[in-house]
Amino acid sequence: MTLAFDPSRLTLPSGHYIGGRYVEGPEEIAVVAPSNGLTLAAIPRADAAMVDRAVATARAALDSSGWGGTAPRDRLRALHRWADLIEAEAGTLARLEAVCSPRPVAQAAAGDVMVTAEQIRFFAEFADKESGDLVPTSDRQLGLISSEPYGVVGAITPWNFPISMAGWKLAPALAAGNAVVLKPSEMTPYSTLYLAELAVKAGIPEGLVNIVLGDGPVTGTALTGHPGIDKVSFTGSTRAGGQIMENIARAGIRPMTLELGGKSPMVVFADADLELAADCLDRGITPNAGQFCVAGSRIVVARDIAEELAAMLIERFARHVPAATWEEVPGFSPIISEPQLGRIDGIVGAAVAQGGEILCGGDRFDREGSFYRPTLIGGVDAANPAVTEEIFGPVATFQTFETEDEAMALASHPTYGLCAGLFTRDLNRALRLSRRIEAGTVWINRYGRSHDHILPTGGWKASGLGKDLGREAYLANRRTKSVLVDL
Ligand code: NAD
Repeated sequence: MTLAFDPSRLTLPSGHYIGGRYVEGPEEIAVVAPSNGLTLAAIPRADAAMVDRAVATARAALDSSGWGGTAPRDRLRALHRWADLIEAEAGTLARLEAVCSPRPVAQAAAGDVMVTAEQIRFFAEFADKESGDLVPTSDRQLGLISSEPYGVVGAITPWNFPISMAGWKLAPALAAGNAVVLKPSEMTPYSTLYLAELAVKAGIPEGLVNIVLGDGPVTGTALTGHPGIDKVSFTGSTRAGGQIMENIARAGIRPMTLELGGKSPMVVFADADLELAADCLDRGITPNAGQFCVAGSRIVVARDIAEELAAMLIERFARHVPAATWEEVPGFSPIISEPQLGRIDGIVGAAVAQGGEILCGGDRFDREGSFYRPTLIGGVDAANPAVTEEIFGPVATFQTFETEDEAMALASHPTYGLCAGLFTRDLNRALRLSRRIEAGTVWINRYGRSHDHILPTGGWKASGLGKDLGREAYLANRRTKSVLVDL
């Protein structure tokens, strides 16, 4: 099957998806294809009334379907059918993903879509395995501990991996018996709408998956502050995460999961396998043009091997060839938008103004679309903006160390704690240091997830609150209840 497509001829879904049907609204937000700047079908912006309609629809669907209570095996079967349809429609989903996001269509089809289907199956299997505890607190009393779904989950996702991020939110919430109102990024709405359509086709009752379109300030704020939302699940920037916390506090306290930004280190010791390390450093910052939360954007290298490793990395960076996301053969991804490319270039400029030295890259590719070269910056100190700020582009800093303590000092970030990579042949050292690093995930002699859904993912410090994936994500979608009976 050929996956390549013409972006100007793709049929795009439009409108909010509420209660199993599309709800049109004025087309207020332009969606742009970052590979060539083409303006695509505009989308409406849900106001407070539209969000209210979606939340009420979700609540009514929960009440009428019994999804959260009576039939866990039905839940499991419906989720597996949804995964089947997602696999069958991988090409369509991947095109809707690729047209407006940084995801190359072939990678989206074989990777993001398939992994999302697998994740849905993973979480589906929890659905019929709930059990509780019976606690005889005395011979005249009986305690029961059980858990229940929250009810309506409000979810918000970013633009960097739209299908995957929607899957991270929808799969555990639905498996755990909740309904969801999800707002995808206004820059990448189409694939999430189609995922919701497939959920209904799979037999998940109408109204359990609702998609409201719009931006953060209007739609996102209305959703996270809505009194009918029982739990908020957010993935995006630390800045927006802070605003959401404030909004939730103002609107009425409720639980939240926040997956936020990062500025993760990749630390290479002198005894590391340098070929492996160079491959991993490249893979840590160039996929999706560095637009992924766990990007290894701070490279920290033992001084003895620094020159050799820098040369190996620069050679790998030079191999990346940009390509429009709708081309059959995946290429280096575009930056999501021109303003974001300008922001990246601005931080690179500020880094140089503060003493940084461009070792390679440092400017855009000379072609149409928003493409920025893989960039390595040396000569930076701890206060340099390229070291402190999450750039969210294909830009890494290169710092060197003499001692293990120096390496750990450079690896630590005052704010973020999402993940870290350690490269050494000394596994004792790697395991010892993995305990010193303040991060939710540490990779040793590899960099990046393995699509192993059992491992929870989520940041420490300002990188997040709670976990996505793993059993923890399922449990985070249920709340515990204790019942005490006097006999
Ligand atoms: P963003 O925070 O600008 O937007 C994310 C989503 O939140 C969008 O849907 C946006 O419309 C919405 N939003 C923005 N402000 C809001 C507000 N005040 N209230 C409610 N909703 C609001 O982030 P982005 O630019 O789309 O994505 C990039 C960021 O996401 C990076 O910081 C990246 O590290 C982070 N991210 C984290 C993870 C993780 O697992 N930790 C995964 C992917 C992306």
